[in-house]
Amino acid sequence: MTKTELCLLSAAQMANGLVAGDFTSVELTQAHLDRIADLNPALNAYLYVDDAGALATAREVDEARAAGQDLPRLAGVPVAVKDIACTVGMPTTAGSKMLEGWMPPYDATIVAKLKSAKMPILGKTNMDEFAMGSSTEHSAFGPTRNPWDLDRIPGGSGGGSSAAVGAYLAPLAIGSDTGGSIRQPAAVTGTVGTKPTYGGVSRYGVIALASSLDQIGPCARSVTDTALLHEVLGGHDEMDSTSLDAPVPAVVEASSTRDLTGMKIGVVKEISGEGFQPGVLARFEEARAKLVELGAEIVEVSCPHFTSAMAAYYLVLPSEASSNLARYDAMRYGLRVGPDGVESPSAEQVMAASRAAGFGDEVKRRIILGTYALSSGYYDAYYGQAQKVRTLIACDFEAAFEQVDVLISPTTPTTAFKLGEKLDDPLAMYLGDLATIPANLAGVPGMSIPVGVAEDNLPVGLQFLAPATQDQRLYAVGAALEAALTEQWGGPMLDQAAHLCLAQPFDKQEAGA
Ligand code: GLN
Repeated sequence: MTKTELCLLSAAQMANGLVAGDFTSVELTQAHLDRIADLNPALNAYLYVDDAGALATAREVDEARAAGQDLPRLAGVPVAVKDIACTVGMPTTAGSKMLEGWMPPYDATIVAKLKSAKMPILGKTNMDEFAMGSSTEHSAFGPTRNPWDLDRIPGGSGGGSSAAVGAYLAPLAIGSDTGGSIRQPAAVTGTVGTKPTYGGVSRYGVIALASSLDQIGPCARSVTDTALLHEVLGGHDEMDSTSLDAPVPAVVEASSTRDLTGMKIGVVKEISGEGFQPGVLARFEEARAKLVELGAEIVEVSCPHFTSAMAAYYLVLPSEASSNLARYDAMRYGLRVGPDGVESPSAEQVMAASRAAGFGDEVKRRIILGTYALSSGYYDAYYGQAQKVRTLIACDFEAAFEQVDVLISPTTPTTAFKLGEKLDDPLAMYLGDLATIPANLAGVPGMSIPVGVAEDNLPVGLQFLAPATQDQRLYAVGAALEAALTEQWGGPMLDQAAHLCLAQPFDKQEAGA
């Protein structure tokens, strides 16, 4: 097999090939590292690549396998990690100048889990600063580009992970989703991503944005691969007080579903129509018809408070973020700058100067907003009101899930926009998360899968939402629809398209392989 052929395999195929002895983990890992060296300069998907560490794990797996040891299912299959998770031996920046070069003293629980699953960690992926954004343009280390069109955004905040997976620079990646940062990047890059139920995956060692909304989850190119990584990441962690003490939902098993007879699916009236790109709506309608062909019953449901989700989110998130980011005070972490001409600056002066130098505009905007919303005299009017709206949104979900098993909507109103297009218009950027935010406010799980391309030849995502702890339902519906669409297209959408948009590097690699 050539290096390119190895990178084109699904994670499940990689795992099987390793067991069958078709190739080694060192070969598989090296193929990805070579591809990263080739394509990352154009994509900027990785902020840090750990050649030595990834190959050391790969070698260990190959030796253990040769010695006949029993190994975890994904042992030897490489993975990328969003730069929001603490990693021993690799810098962790959260996309911020504030943490440039910071080496965490411990691994996040999810990173420790990847290590015990014996998965070579290729490196750390780019992201909007402190996960605030929908385009990865707010990264202090330059934007990531969409593999479908290098002039377009790969989504955000987890654009590094989605671009890495979409360009075959990793079969699997980790993301974090506070308001859509796994699902929205998946949608605009033609990949799959899941935000698990709040508490379903540990947040210990993950740099906090808004703690009541943050959730870690898997990114991949197929529903089954996403499920395989979900199973590795999920489960109780006593180091995270919000971690659910419940078994990981049977997501891998659910991914073999092909028939949806008896399944009731609700179309959320409020997440569609006005403001949505025609090509996005067209693909959504086709997917909906496919679900009926697969045996599902579709009904329209109303979630009236979803229209206020964006307003509530942009009070809850900045409030929690302003509190979480107060720790970057130049006393305990990161960059320290004294104002010019001050020989021994006071703690307050150092804090003010360092935070001015270390944070980007979007982060400052949200800290100011959050601090204002939490200040005495305004707390009840803003933060308190937002929390009440949040409860109403959770009640909308509850009522909807009394009628249906799963909800669907387009994942995003539009396909990937051009780099720079919304950078000076924060509100326009925020609107991209219209469909994904309600799930975070209510703590329910959500998934995005590709359902074709729009009139601009760019990928469209379909979002599934399920009740809390019922993550397996997303995988059941997602897998059945994915299988039907793959059959219709004569192969996975991404495989065909990625060959087109990255034709040159692919050919170059093929020649050298
Ligand atoms: N784009 C959303 C925001 O800017 C979501 C971010 C996220 O999920 N981390 O807040």
